[in-house]
Amino acid sequence: MAQLQHPLLTGFQRRLALYLTGPPALAFLPCISLASYWFGGEGALIVVSALLPLIYLAAGAVHEQQTTADRYGDVLPRATFDTRVAQVFERCAKGIEEANLLFVGLEDFDVLAERYGQSTADLVRQRTADRLIAVLRDADLIGEIAEARFAVCTAPMRKLDLETCIQLAARLQAAVEEPVSVDGTVVYLTASVGFCQHARAPGRTATDWIEAATIALREAHRHGPTAIRAFNEDMYRAQKTRSNLREEAAIALDTGQIQPWFQPQISTDTGEITGFEALARWNHPERGMISPADFLPALEESALLERLAEVMMYHSFAALKAWDGAGVNVPQVGVNFAGSELNNPRLLEKIKWELDRFDLSPDRLAVEVLETVVAKAPDDMITRNINALGELGCRIDLDDFGTGHASIASIRRFSVGRIKIDRSFVMKADRDPEQQRMIGAILTMAERLGIETLAEGVETVGEHVLLAQLGCDHVQGFGIARPMPFEQTLDWLARHGEKLQDMPRIMGGKDG
Ligand code: C2E
Ligand code: CA
Ligand code: CA
Repeated sequence: MAQLQHPLLTGFQRRLALYLTGPPALAFLPCISLASYWFGGEGALIVVSALLPLIYLAAGAVHEQQTTADRYGDVLPRATFDTRVAQVFERCAKGIEEANLLFVGLEDFDVLAERYGQSTADLVRQRTADRLIAVLRDADLIGEIAEARFAVCTAPMRKLDLETCIQLAARLQAAVEEPVSVDGTVVYLTASVGFCQHARAPGRTATDWIEAATIALREAHRHGPTAIRAFNEDMYRAQKTRSNLREEAAIALDTGQIQPWFQPQISTDTGEITGFEALARWNHPERGMISPADFLPALEESALLERLAEVMMYHSFAALKAWDGAGVNVPQVGVNFAGSELNNPRLLEKIKWELDRFDLSPDRLAVEVLETVVAKAPDDMITRNINALGELGCRIDLDDFGTGHASIASIRRFSVGRIKIDRSFVMKADRDPEQQRMIGAILTMAERLGIETLAEGVETVGEHVLLAQLGCDHVQGFGIARPMPFEQTLDWLARHGEKLQDMPRIMGGKDG
């Protein structure tokens, strides 16, 4: 690394320049002057006195350049780093020497860039690289393999045990996590480190070694922030299972194994159905029913969330048509959009086209957007899409409300029609006054803003009654019904209709 970029300035030379031009050199000045006088007389003394400052100026400039210059230049780009790692791999493959490949990943770097701007983020990256370099020896390699992700390959040595590897990982991590001060702002960073020793690499090529370090870093991030993980075989197997799952999920989407199940939403005032939420289910031929928590990450990693939204919308619209055809009144279906689906510039066009194809009016679709997405969305594609869908006449439901710090301004800006109060506020609400106060505050805010409310995760009659009394408009949860496949919805609707006729109304706080 360093010697590649600056062949004339090895670490030894750098240190020499420091000794010759820095404060330690001052101690030798009298000695040099005296010696020149002894050996060369007055003439020599005059020449030395005149030349010394010039020599120091010249040498000082070199030293200055080295200490204050951007050491970030020592960081190899990905391709060069990989080539050099391949050389280290071959050298260690002889079995005499050992090396360690470490990946250091800064956490939440995108949030940092968003908060402080790209130029500050770039400065932080450079400082981070400088600090990593300061921890390393000159013969070690460093590269930046992705934004805010650094890779270090230690120079081969005869003996390298796990303990030493962990210590180096911890030193790199500690160096990165020292607060960085940029233009008077102190930025706090966390980093996770994953590493793999050459001897533990799973395959026979440098690519396998690099993949192993990548897996170790991914595992560290999963346990992060501030985690360190050494590669092991179990991680490798788990990774393979996940990538199998990714491939299978892609096929499952296209072959119709992933479909929506529907969970009813009812009015607290009338008890009537006000809609269904479409929740993805994967009916796996061998493993049975898989829940979204287990396959959404696989779809996200394969950039297939957009395709999922399409599938969910298609089946939801087909279901609406079927309910209409059966003469039952289901006003709308809620479809979840995690964020990345909302980034598509052609989303509006696509939804319009699908609605037209099924001959449905836009208000039959409720677009469920997570509060965290709305809270974060700057003026970008996501914002434009949500607004355009609102203008088209689709309903905008703010999902998991209470977990994402959306401002009142953003709720207004996105023409949110309804907030879905997160399950965490609803749990045990009938017995916990603190929960009741929180729900009360949310309902008051919603009422002032003229927005409807739905409580999620309503499991008991007690919770249902309390929410109705407090004036929450809609409820959804296991207490009303669990999500069900489309085929069961008509039966459920029929039974629910009968029950409504038999039961006294749970009086809503607002109207009755
Ligand atoms: P969500 O949008 O908040 O959906 C509600 C989740 O709570 C569902 O879990 C539902 O089955 C569950 N739930 C409903 N009532 C109750 C209750 O009374 N008690 C408890 N404990 N849970 C209840 P599910 O179906 O496992 O979905 C989990 C999450 O996965 C969803 O949370 C949503 O964020 C995501 N998801 C589901 N389908 C899709 C989809 O098609 N696209 C996207 N992007 N995300 C989806
Ligand atoms: Ca939802
Ligand atoms: Ca939710």
